[in-house]
Amino acid sequence: MAAPRDWLGTVEAEGIAGRQGSSGVEVVFPSDPATPAPLCPHGPTLLFVKVNQGKEETRRFYACSACRDRKDCNFFQWEDEKLSGARLAAREAHNQKCQPPLSRTQCVERYVKFIELPLSQRKFCQGCQQLLLPDDWERHQEHRVVGDISVTQLKRPSQLLYPLENKKTNAQYLFTDRSCQFLVDLLSTLGFTRVLCVGTPRLHELIRLKASGEKKSNIKSLLLDIDFRYSQFYMEDSFCHYNMFNHHFFDGKAALEVCRTFLQEDKGEGVIMVTDPPFGGLVEPLAVTFKKLIAMWKEGQSQDSNQKELPIFWIFPYFFEFRIRQFFPSFCMLDYQVDYDNHALYKHGKTGRKQSPVRIFTNIPPNKIILPSEEGYRFCPLCQRYVSLENQHCEHCNSCTSKDGRKWNHCFLCKKCVKPSWIHCSICSHCALPDHSCGGPKDGCFICGELDHKRSTCPKIATSKKVNKAVRKQKQRKSNKMKMGTTKGQSMNHTSVTRKKSRRERAHQYLCS
Ligand code: SAH
Ligand code: ZN
Ligand code: ZN
Ligand code: ZN
Ligand code: ZN
Repeated sequence: MAAPRDWLGTVEAEGIAGRQGSSGVEVVFPSDPATPAPLCPHGPTLLFVKVNQGKEETRRFYACSACRDRKDCNFFQWEDEKLSGARLAAREAHNQKCQPPLSRTQCVERYVKFIELPLSQRKFCQGCQQLLLPDDWERHQEHRVVGDISVTQLKRPSQLLYPLENKKTNAQYLFTDRSCQFLVDLLSTLGFTRVLCVGTPRLHELIRLKASGEKKSNIKSLLLDIDFRYSQFYMEDSFCHYNMFNHHFFDGKAALEVCRTFLQEDKGEGVIMVTDPPFGGLVEPLAVTFKKLIAMWKEGQSQDSNQKELPIFWIFPYFFEFRIRQFFPSFCMLDYQVDYDNHALYKHGKTGRKQSPVRIFTNIPPNKIILPSEEGYRFCPLCQRYVSLENQHCEHCNSCTSKDGRKWNHCFLCKKCVKPSWIHCSICSHCALPDHSCGGPKDGCFICGELDHKRSTCPKIATSKKVNKAVRKQKQRKSNKMKMGTTKGQSMNHTSVTRKKSRRERAHQYLCS
């Protein structure tokens, strides 16, 4: 797959890919929900509605908030579906079974034992992605086990663990040293003392490394992430197993309190939230979650600092600017290009498509955020922000208009700047790629037809494929049931398939849940 972490979206957003799909799915947040959402192994599910050519279908359904692939979580339930007691019990049992085998406290106990072992006894199983205590060795005899795990390695779990790249769930893309160093230096220059890292394990790690390094910085960090493997390396006060699409803490109230205490320390002074969510995820549930974290921070504020906002860095591709600003109008997008280690296709560079489309969205005034001049960024006094080398100030638009780092051109007919690859089309009466098909809906969104965004940033897209599949599967299940005349046969089928799965796959599945 050449296009992890929904990079495919990038291509589509730029109108290069052909026309695909004509329907999508939207999340609904009922203002006063009649019943609480049912639970999947990833916490409360979200309510979705299928949309066809801008028209909502009437029957709504619940599906997993975190996994955009049925393979990772196949929860599906019609909103008006009544489940039997037996099915509810089976679901409850399934949810239990999917939870990590060790509790958070057990993980911490293991970690404490592990660091007390002499170097020669500190082993890590690469297959199971697990630190091993001497009692575990036998069970992992046949696995790929590495020894002599040093303290330095323990402090860099993001290098020890392999990144979970399955793009529909974890989409784990780790910052390059360049980007990560830039972020840590920036956070320290801005004077922050606490960083809430939401889905940024490598940033968390680097902040902590600096805090324990020679030139001690005094920044504390708390990581919230769905990747449970990290709980082996951190105590309760520096990692919570968390789902950012539904604000669910897997370890219940105690973990929620860790987060609350962290946000409210020093009456909420000195804290910033930094998040780098999977791009394939829907923007709205993320915004709802971030607003809950903001509210949690606000509760701890003293009366006189009521006006202040929780500082945030939301790292996301530039073509989501419109969507993000719908939810956070005070955010602006910085020109800094964030790039990733395990992403070969889009790395920092000055040429063509090698430029990363990922940016930082923030409510911190952009003139306070100095971008590195060694990389060509410079200050635009008119815009009062740092911009990339080729981003030129357009006197007609009165701003530095490039979004993608290339020099954009002003079109007098469109009265705005456009991408260098676009030309004005007199048939469509706006600018487009030279080979576009005139008059077609291609220039608008394939899903809802709106002109202000493309399919990939459509509020209705992200789970469309999954849901189409889910609905199809549901229908198929019904017809299978009729064919087999029993539901039991089917569930047995399912288990035998599960048994056949390789150990690696199972480990993977458990890690993803
Ligand atoms: N660039 C970051 C990693 C971003 S990749 C860094 O280097 O630190 C996205 C991260 O979000 C991964 O760590 C992944 O495990 C996490 N993630 C994915 N889905 C999530 C969810 N539903 N809730 C919380 N974290 C999630
Ligand atoms: Zn789920
Ligand atoms: Zn093993
Ligand atoms: Zn212009
Ligand atoms: Zn034009």
